[in-house]
Amino acid sequence: MRKIGIFGGTFDPVHLGHLRPALEIRDALSLDEVRFIPAGCPPHRHAPVAPARLRLALLEAALAGVDGFRLDEREIGKTTPCYTVDTLAELRREFPRDALYLMVGMDAFLGFPGWHDWQRVFELAHVVVAHRPGWVMQVRGALHEALAARRAEAPESLAGTQDGRILLQPVTQLEISASRVRACLAGGGDPRYLVPEPVRELLLESNAYANCKETG
Ligand code: ATP
Repeated sequence: MRKIGIFGGTFDPVHLGHLRPALEIRDALSLDEVRFIPAGCPPHRHAPVAPARLRLALLEAALAGVDGFRLDEREIGKTTPCYTVDTLAELRREFPRDALYLMVGMDAFLGFPGWHDWQRVFELAHVVVAHRPGWVMQVRGALHEALAARRAEAPESLAGTQDGRILLQPVTQLEISASRVRACLAGGGDPRYLVPEPVRELLLESNAYANCKETG
């Protein structure tokens, strides 16, 4: 059974706050691969600022040469909202014998109850939440119940299982967001140390975020 991490997002643009937690989760869980799946038309937010082609090029530059990190383009060409649960169902059909680990930040996890058919996510994958070490989270209602029923205490307790558990995995906190990177570029700033160097170079060349209205 292989262990496949799935990391969806807008990646508008990809930044170190995506990459470092993904790397730490890859290592803590001994994942065989991590698939970065950029959204074409994200259901819960405004349309991406950068064109799909640029978001892909930035991700390619960010992932190049990193063991196990790969770009998965299945969502990016879609023009209708693409729900995570549908993408997971497709991956489950493709990889019937493997364990799937949906990787999300705490902000995304807390928004789960607003996701389309969110309870079915647990029938298709484990959920790994990148969280702040030592932070006690305030989870209520149906999400609290799901967490109480499904919480795994350590990566090892998921051994041999394919889906259904929730793991809160402490990672180095990097208070970086794509909005902040866009705001920096829109203000004529340099995103050095917020994004990998090859991504920074492409961003400065492309001018793609120069006119966005982001204020950070
Ligand atoms: P934006 O600022 O445009 O909302 P974002 O930086 O949050 O974007 P997304 O592509 O929307 O990036 O996020 C994809 C996933 O990455 C989500 O699960 C989100 O929780 C997670 N994520 C984003 N930034 C961080 C961070 N700094 N640390 C941990 N997880 C993060």
